[in-house]
Amino acid sequence: MLKKLFITAALPILTAASLPETGPVPPMKPTAQAQAEAPKTTEKTPEAPSSGKADITEHQKPEDPQALSACLDQLTRQGVGFRKLDRQDGPGACGIEQPVELSEPAKGLVIEPPAILRCQTAAAIVDWTREMLLPAARRAYPETQPVRLANASSYVCRNRNSAETGKVSEHAKGNALDLARIDFADGQSLTLQPRDKGSDFAAAFLHSMTASACLYFTTVLSPGSDATHQDHLHLDILERKSGYRYCR
Ligand SMILES: [Zn+2]
Repeated sequence: MLKKLFITAALPILTAASLPETGPVPPMKPTAQAQAEAPKTTEKTPEAPSSGKADITEHQKPEDPQALSACLDQLTRQGVGFRKLDRQDGPGACGIEQPVELSEPAKGLVIEPPAILRCQTAAAIVDWTREMLLPAARRAYPETQPVRLANASSYVCRNRNSAETGKVSEHAKGNALDLARIDFADGQSLTLQPRDKGSDFAAAFLHSMTASACLYFTTVLSPGSDATHQDHLHLDILERKSGYRYCR
């Protein structure tokens, strides 16, 4: 597994179709970017020798100290429930220089289990829940309110879709969160699964959540968007040079 990670980390600098997500690369066409976390079952990844350099290129981009400090200050000012964790180091591109454990993005709304993320990811979750999710819930569920977001996955060292080969997941860099369920104060729960648009208020709420998430995250994979995203909502802040967003 370790070896595979190193080998696959070498690929982005060797193949034009999968340029590195970081570093000085020219803008790409959306079609090349659009692969996001989509399954690659039909796509053969060319084997290439590991150069060793790839780990340096692909390894976690150092946090900008000023941006990190501003982010942490902002979470504190906003009264977010979080704490700083020790640096997470993993093989290849895995790891977070300054992880935070996000436990309560908004007052009265917890994430369980608490999510281990980069600060910028946590900040996006905080803003989205406060500005979009909670107001939408007030409209859809006026008699109650969300109290818990079920975290299905935050930081974990793995490839996209847990595949044996391919690009490393944004989860492995602290850039991503998967949500599986929303629990409400009155005991009801909304599982994040495919729902027909316009069929009921739960579906309308889910679609407003996923649509609004694209304003805060650069990748949004809604329940049902592909074979590996049937039972959760994937959100990440992958930086693409072209500014392209992949929201499905
Ligand atoms: Zn995910």
